[in-house]
Amino acid sequence: MPFVDTHLHLEELEHPGAAVTEAVEAGVGRLITMGTDLATSTGALALAEQRREVYAAVGHQPMNREAPDLDALRSLAAHEKAVAIGEVGVDGGHTELAALPLQVEWFASLCDLALELGLPVCVHTRDSAEEVFGVLRARPGLTGVMHYFSLDGAWAGRFLELGFHLSFAGLLTRPSRQELREVARTCPPDRLLLETDAPFGTPHGRRAKQNRPAWLLDTAKVVAELRRLSLEELAAIEETNAKSLFSKLG
Ligand SMILES: [Zn+2]
Repeated sequence: MPFVDTHLHLEELEHPGAAVTEAVEAGVGRLITMGTDLATSTGALALAEQRREVYAAVGHQPMNREAPDLDALRSLAAHEKAVAIGEVGVDGGHTELAALPLQVEWFASLCDLALELGLPVCVHTRDSAEEVFGVLRARPGLTGVMHYFSLDGAWAGRFLELGFHLSFAGLLTRPSRQELREVARTCPPDRLLLETDAPFGTPHGRRAKQNRPAWLLDTAKVVAELRRLSLEELAAIEETNAKSLFSKLG
């Protein structure tokens, strides 16, 4: 099965190599590992060079306290396996982070870089949907994915209207998340993506310190059931969407 884990942090896993092998055996044929700053973006590319199945996004997470180095990111993004600018976004949920207006300014500059390079963005948003929406809406032609989608149906509609993809993660495996399941059921078939965000976001019922890319299948099973698809059908849809959004994905 050609599932794509469109968002994870391989470097933060205890055993990245073993995790990739296990994922491939489970049916996850490609993985896009995120950079959160310059060091991890460089590390993500190094992992992509080691493993055929691994691709990288280079970015600057809102958890950073300094401004992004756009020139350095631009040169990293030229790598043949750098498929996106990510992880980028705005986080209003942590008071110790840079002030929101500053985060918005940095996010906007990273979106401009993505536009300039013709790459999609992998977007993090927490308590910042309004701010993120404003930046994306002001940049027609920008493409990307709302990673770890967990907003309501109205917000889903607004981001879909901008042309963005929605990526569903382990949160969906919690039976209590009925509204999110409804978003996953009704998401247009050409905008649906899956991810684990490993080592974060361990699926419901899995007892482990770290999430793993192989557990993408836990989320995939829920989505397949909601949409009345076989796992093979869902995998084919998701792979097509991932290849269309991330055009450098081989
Ligand atoms: Zn992430």
